[in-house]
Parts: sequence; structure tokens; C-alpha cells
Amino acid sequence: MLLKQRVIDLAPDFMVKLFAAPYIAGDSAEAAVRQASSLWSGRRLKSTIDLLGEELTRRDDVQQTVTEYLRLVDLLGRHELATLSLKPTQLGSHESVDVCADHIGRIAAYAAAQGIGVTIDMEDHTCTDITLEVYRRLLPRFPGLGTVLQTRLHRTAADIEALKGRQARIRLCIGIYLEPADIALQKKPEMKERVLTQGERLLDDGHYVEFATHDEALIGKILDMIARRGFGGSQFEFQMLLGVPRDAVQQRLIAEGHTVRLYVPYAVKWSHALGYAKRRLAANPNMGLYVARNLIRGISKSAARPYRAV
Ligand SMILES: Cc1cc2nc3c(=O)[nH]c(=O)nc-3n(C[C@H](O)[C@H](O)[C@H](O)COP(=O)(O)OP(=O)(O)OC[C@H]3O[C@@H](n4cnc5c(N)ncnc54)[C@H](O)[C@@H]3O)c2cc1C
Repeated sequence: MLLKQRVIDLAPDFMVKLFAAPYIAGDSAEAAVRQASSLWSGRRLKSTIDLLGEELTRRDDVQQTVTEYLRLVDLLGRHELATLSLKPTQLGSHESVDVCADHIGRIAAYAAAQGIGVTIDMEDHTCTDITLEVYRRLLPRFPGLGTVLQTRLHRTAADIEALKGRQARIRLCIGIYLEPADIALQKKPEMKERVLTQGERLLDDGHYVEFATHDEALIGKILDMIARRGFGGSQFEFQMLLGVPRDAVQQRLIAEGHTVRLYVPYAVKWSHALGYAKRRLAANPNMGLYVARNLIRGISKSAARPYRAV
């Protein structure tokens, strides 16, 4: 993973852009809403739409992000096919918890008036405290508000304990950020074991759980656990990323009556999409070799053909 990450970091931006195309809905809110509508009408997949951007430190950029999310709500109108996902570092967390909570609260209030839910994404471990603090402050005002817990982090067990009794909405995933060994598991099988145990714990505590994984074996174990414990369909859903090829399992889950939601990101500035695109490519099993081969070949001709995940 580390080697692959380094290779992808070396790749020129235009190449990352071409290869990342399947993971990104487009360059406007309109494109994202079109994507969400077609996922719903064609395959009964719900969406959570994310405006790409992170680590924004200029107030103008943060303000534009707020305005863009409000516009997205206007475009979505009143329907239940999509929620919003947003990141604290694009909404003022660099300035203070208060500023970040104000911005996210404003978006959540506007969205709630249209019946649209909001989830606060989780970034790397330097953001966990502020993200959970913003979440704790806003949850009483917005009961459907969601956030994310990453099972790789050792602190997550304590974070689950602290949420007890709050009827939270938690997206549970292994987490995409590489974290140091003193604070996080390093092996995926162990992280995934925790998706099962911590997912069961969250359901036991009465929270709504969004299982975010593409691992079909893990999805099978989650379904077994849910059946064994008798949790109802209104207590959980499955989530996957746009662009990761999982059509068959998604359709199977939907046919069995489960909710499946895709993460549908879009970017108004390509520079804002770069971090997300690189993380997706690093997680793609075929990508490290593919990028490396093209880098070695001198790139241009072969890179002009967009990668389609298989
Ligand atoms: C809806 C959603 C929201 C998320 N939000 C967050 C968040 O807020 N914070 C955070 O840290 N992480 C987030 N994640 C990332 C999540 O932690 C990653 O998806 C995870 O790291 C991949 O883990 P996995 O369980 O799919 O297992 P993996 O073992 O990583 O993947 C299982 C299989 O899926 C396939 N696969 C996975 N990714 C790709 C890809 N990009 N291209 C092609 N195939 C792929 C591969 O075949 C792989 O073998 C989110 C994921 C989803 C689905």
C-alpha cells in the first residue's frame, strides 16, 4: 500500500484526473444530482453527495463551500434519494470548532428544511476530536445527523462508548487514511473484524449503522450477524463508493430489501479533487502497477485512455 501510494503521488495530475474519472460524478452540482437521480431511477441506489475539497484555509473558499452546499440542497429539492456528505476541513475546522459547527449547522438546517440528511465525514486522526465535538454539538438540533467512525483507530471503542444513548447515525468503515502504528491497526483483516464487532455494538446501543465496505466476504458476515441478532432493516444500510465495481452485490442486497447508498462526489475545482482521487487510486487493487507502467513508458499516449475499473 505504501509503495503504491508513493507511485500514485509521483503521477502527474492530468493522469490522476483521467484515471479517477469513474470515481467522480462530474464538475458541477447539476452533474452530481443527475448522477444521483439516475442511480435511483435505474438501480434503486440511494446516494450521499459530496462536494470534493479538504484542507481549505482561506475564508473565501470556506464560504464558497457553504454557498455551494446550499445550492446543492436547492437542486435536490424534496426527495429522499440523497443525503449530503461534508468534511470539517473544508468548512472552517482550521479556524475553530465554533466556526466549523456554525458552517455545518447552517448547511444542516437548510438541508433539514427539505428533509435532506447530512453526514460529517471523518478525515485523518488529527481531525477526529474536532469532528466528534462538532457532531456532539449539532446532533441534538439535527436528530438524523451522521458521522463516521474508523475501526482502524484504537480510540474508536471509547468513541462508541461516549456516544451511548445519543441515537447517532454512524457510518462505520475501516478508514482510508494510513495512520501510525501506535494509534491504529495496520492489518486490514483486524480492521474488518472490528467492523463486525463494533457494528454489532453500535446496533446494540440503538444507533443507525451505515456499513461502508466493498468487501463481499465482510458484507456476508455482517448479514449473518444481523440475522443472528434479529436487527431490523430500519437500523442499518450498506454504503459503497461510486466507481468501485460492485453491481452484482448491490443488486443482490437491494433485492433482499436492504438499503444501499453510494458516495457520489463531485468537484468544482480539480485541485480540490486531487486528494480524494489519489486515495481512490491507491485503494484500487490494479492501480499501482498500472500507473507505474505508464510512468515508466513516458506516460502521454497510453494515459490518454481513461481507466475503467473492472
Ligand atoms: C460511502 C463511503 C464513505 C466513506 N467515508 C469515509 C470517511 O469519511 N473517512 C474514511 O477514512 N474513509 C471513508 N471511507 C473509505 C473506506 O474506509 C474505504 O472504502 C476503505 O478504506 C476500503 O475498505 P473496504 O472495507 O472496502 O476494504 P478493502 O479491502 O480496502 O476493499 C475491498 C475490495 O474492494 C475493492 N476496492 C476498494 N476500493 C477500490 C477502488 N478505489 N477501486 C477499485 N476497487 C476497490 C477492491 O477489490 C478491494 O479488494 C468511505 C467508504 C465508503 C464506501
